Amino acid sequence: MDEFVYYLKQGACELGVALSEPQIEMFCAYKTMLVHANRFVNLTSITDDQGIAVKHFVDSLSCLLVAGTENFNSFVDIGTGAGFPGLVLKIMNPGARALLVDSVRKKVDFVREVADSLGLDGVEALHGRAEDFGQDGEYREQFDLAVARGVANMGVLAEYCLPFVRPGGLFVAMKGPRVVDEMDAGGKAIEILGGSQAILRHLALPYDAGERVLVAVRKERNTPAKYPRKAGAPARKPLGDA
Ligand code: SAH
Repeated sequence: MDEFVYYLKQGACELGVALSEPQIEMFCAYKTMLVHANRFVNLTSITDDQGIAVKHFVDSLSCLLVAGTENFNSFVDIGTGAGFPGLVLKIMNPGARALLVDSVRKKVDFVREVADSLGLDGVEALHGRAEDFGQDGEYREQFDLAVARGVANMGVLAEYCLPFVRPGGLFVAMKGPRVVDEMDAGGKAIEILGGSQAILRHLALPYDAGERVLVAVRKERNTPAKYPRKAGAPARKPLGDA
């Protein structure tokens, strides 16, 4: 068996996530496009089959441990890069409306190309800043779920993501173990933005691919209209920082 397929299947199985044959075929096609496009556009520094399978695809699947496989009808992935975890979630829940946002145009073009080529409907890939789309009525508080991996520290990420979540919906930040040091300021930011107290779920990726922490926040109240602030402001002066 192809090394990529082997690690994808085994890794998903260890997480307890079931993959269908059509899903596995889509992941293979996606991986082939990623490796090819990565020669022209800098999409990932991980280039071996095992690394791509575990550190991109299986890691993205781990989000489902908190979000549920079909518990959401709509989601947004902020700073999707080459589509992680957003396109993976869309493949797992093809009926959901997907919004994939990144501030680098070439990444958005790649994500759109993969979605088209896999025949995925209901994927909107947008080039621009989370801060701008979060103030746009078409997107603000319209989603059941907001996710992000590897984008910013917790307080900044909360300001990027929570404005998209409808009250009652969920925000899941895919972080590493050092997120515990970000939770003092992050927790304050989450509270200001209408989120509940965060629940941290620690997990180890299969094949010693690293420790992960999923930070889950329920949206309890509407986000005050002044958030997110103008593009660049959240990162310059993170909410919740003393
Ligand atoms: N989520 C992907 C990519 C992580 S790299 C993965 O885990 O593989 C972080 C990405 O976030 C970059 O592609 C960057 O362009 C994007 N990004 C950072 N700040 C952003 C913002 N304010 N709005 C939109 N995209 C942003």
